[in-house]
Amino acid sequence: MPESLLQLKNISYSYHSLQTETPALYQISFHIDVGEFVAIVGPSGCGKSTLLSIIAGLLSPEEGTIVFHNPDGSLSYPKIGYMLQRDHLFEWRSVYQNAILGLEINKKLTQENIDRVLTLMKDYDLYRFKDKKPSELSGGMKQRAALIRTLALNPQLLLLDEPFSALDYQTRLTVSADICNIIRKSGKTALLITHDLSEAISLADRVIILSKRPATVKCEVPIRLTLPDDSSLAARNAPEFQYYFNLLWEALSDEKK
Ligand code: ADP
Repeated sequence: MPESLLQLKNISYSYHSLQTETPALYQISFHIDVGEFVAIVGPSGCGKSTLLSIIAGLLSPEEGTIVFHNPDGSLSYPKIGYMLQRDHLFEWRSVYQNAILGLEINKKLTQENIDRVLTLMKDYDLYRFKDKKPSELSGGMKQRAALIRTLALNPQLLLLDEPFSALDYQTRLTVSADICNIIRKSGKTALLITHDLSEAISLADRVIILSKRPATVKCEVPIRLTLPDDSSLAARNAPEFQYYFNLLWEALSDEKK
């Protein structure tokens, strides 16, 4: 049995103002196993970002609990890395200085951590650009630099909030496959929010479909693809791909009615 890193139990959340209440999440329960890559898909405005904010500890659920199972057996909050739609690299710092920013802020700029960042930069073809400014990189390279900055802190859980949505379609295909490869090779557990069904099927081990707001878990679909190689397009050409696409499309279409 794989071990769960994270378990959400009946999480509900509403936004409140003086006049109104906006229910965003209703009784959400699911788990994520150690090393698993899970994608969440749902109609626009259903509560996906709210859910990530709750998992990241930025918002507290009104009802329900989140349980983390750390490898050391403790139930303390794990280290979480958050990757957003924009890379948020600072133009006044070099690519390398951006990559070590989190280490600097957290006072963890040890030789071991610096070496890990440099190795990641070498492995993912950023080392030769390390003294460049972010504006001199392509969109895909910037996202790789942002991911390395996130991985530098060695998070146990990566939260990815539509990290490819600012890229054009062609770039998005290769960058999403690249980023997914980096995450898998590093053995990290990841939760991806996307509105792109093909992206979810090609990257994730399991897709969770949310209903319209207030979001509930409509269904969970484990993805098993027959892959001839690990090229970025292999998943999209897998014989099972269309089956999963139709399944998820129907589940989502019901929600958009
Ligand atoms: P998604 O990420 O699925 O697009 P969000 O989690 O951003 O959805 O938002 C869910 C719902 O909560 C939306 O209807 C949105 O308008 C509302 N919402 C989000 N943030 C706030 C806020 N700070 N105050 C009030 N309502 C909010």
